Amino acid sequence: MSTDPDCIFCKIIAGEIPCFKVYEDDNTLAFMDINPASEGHALVIPQEHAADLHRVSDHAIAATVTSAKKVAAAIDATLHPEGLNLLQCNGPAAAQSVLHFHMHVLPRSIGDDLKLNWGLEPGDMDAIGALAESIRARL
Ligand code: 5GP
Ligand code: ZN
Repeated sequence: MSTDPDCIFCKIIAGEIPCFKVYEDDNTLAFMDINPASEGHALVIPQEHAADLHRVSDHAIAATVTSAKKVAAAIDATLHPEGLNLLQCNGPAAAQSVLHFHMHVLPRSIGDDLKLNWGLEPGDMDAIGALAESIRARL
């Protein structure tokens, strides 16, 4: 399986950087975003490194979408958001900041007026960790 030693998400997969993990299988990993655009914001990534949509294998993207669906259901059961976006960003104009393919699972509320090019504001790590535990318990 291909990895990139300089990639922050490959380091999370390898356990070199900690994360609030909610789900893992042979092909994917899901964990909480530490700069949440909304409460419960999670990321789902393929275990194999690929920079973006144009490079990810069909097998890896299929596995990532399948895991994103599972994680979305667990987030829905935990937080009961009024809506949810599955989002994937490619390239600088789309605000891709990490060059390892990933899907955002983004809970939404009516009137949240969330800008898609949101700024990276660090979240409350205790609250994110507690939420990860609640979501993980449903997977
Ligand atoms: P992008 O802008 O590339 O679509 O999204 C990358 C996401 O990765 C951002 O929402 C950012 O907060 C998140 N992120 C960046 N570094 C880390 C990290 O070390 N740990 C976690 N959990 N999320 C990260
Ligand atoms: Zn990577």
